[in-house]
Amino acid sequence: MSRIWVLGAGQLGQMLKHAGMPLDLEVCPVDIESEETFPLQLHEQVTAEREQWPDTAATRQLAAHPGFVNLNTFPILADRFTQKSLIDKLELATAPWRLVETDTTAEALHQALGERVLLKRRTGGYDGRGQHWLREPGRDAIPDDWHTQAIAEQAIDFDEEVSVVGMRGDDGQCYFYPLTLNLHVNGILLGSVSPLARLSHLQAEAEGMLGKLMNDLDYVGVMAMECFRVGDHLLINELAPRVHNSGHWTQAGASVSQFEAHLRAVAGLPLVKPRVKNLSVMVNLVGTERDNDWLAVDGAELYWYGKEVRPGRKVGHINFCLDSQAETRSALDRLEPLLPASYGPVLDWLRSQLD
Ligand code: ATP
Ligand code: MG
Ligand code: MG
Repeated sequence: MSRIWVLGAGQLGQMLKHAGMPLDLEVCPVDIESEETFPLQLHEQVTAEREQWPDTAATRQLAAHPGFVNLNTFPILADRFTQKSLIDKLELATAPWRLVETDTTAEALHQALGERVLLKRRTGGYDGRGQHWLREPGRDAIPDDWHTQAIAEQAIDFDEEVSVVGMRGDDGQCYFYPLTLNLHVNGILLGSVSPLARLSHLQAEAEGMLGKLMNDLDYVGVMAMECFRVGDHLLINELAPRVHNSGHWTQAGASVSQFEAHLRAVAGLPLVKPRVKNLSVMVNLVGTERDNDWLAVDGAELYWYGKEVRPGRKVGHINFCLDSQAETRSALDRLEPLLPASYGPVLDWLRSQLD
């Protein structure tokens, strides 16, 4: 049996472990806070479920292992400054931006980027944390400790948010899942749908962009690219050098899930273009207690992460990949009374994407 170590033991690490089982790949997620050392063998591989980690005995040991795949990519993408610089270098479309330097003023940012400017911490942000709006000139200031620690982005008046998950083997061959349509509320992903025929004309553009990035980085594994759709074009929002929440639907809707695809790539096993089944819908469970009645909803595939429930925390997701869109609609109708009332607009949005 081959063994793959994962830096990070959150839900992504657990779902990688789950995906390794049918292939007899032993996947070992490692808690980044651990001060233990682990029995890594020279021929084994190391991957990560997050782009940044603290300096602990465990992370030092894993990061020093010669089998750490993509080690050089993580620092580039973990810092929004180097990530945006890479996107610019490759001449790919992204929201116009500036580095917030020691002497940068809000006024200068408004002048360069327009009325609404979004400051984003360079590192550590997720689920919309680490963001600060400068809503109108003369009103909001740059927080003191954000100088040199943030970038500023032009507010994009997008039509909707989409993402693409791709994979690249060590021979350079890339494959992609179809574009996913995503609903983010207050910076947190709440629902996804894929594939949608009305987005298929953007597929080639998305693949071209993500393929160019993966090739430039000589990347091996799964990478996700979040985008804004503005009319018939895509602007890159951000990149994740790992499996991604907007690809969770592939557990139900594709012959090879994003988790298996990542493991195959890292282990040097064959990659193929995943066969996509029917339309899939994913509902993220955020800050809500588990309800076993979800399991009684026909077609529901629950992933419960076993984490302590806290407001705004992702604690699970439910996938659906049913034979018809009418069945998907009924399943969402059945789920609705089993979720907090705040999910009403999310379910309405998901249903509005169905035929
Ligand atoms: P994630 O959990 O996906 O890693 P994050 O905290 O890293 O999120 P972003 O993806 O950069 O943050 O932004 C979160 C959300 O904020 C986006 O999905 C989008 O809804 C909104 N947003 C981000 N950048 C912009 C922008 N330039 N203009 C308008 N809205 C934006
Ligand atoms: Mg992010
Ligand atoms: Mg994001």
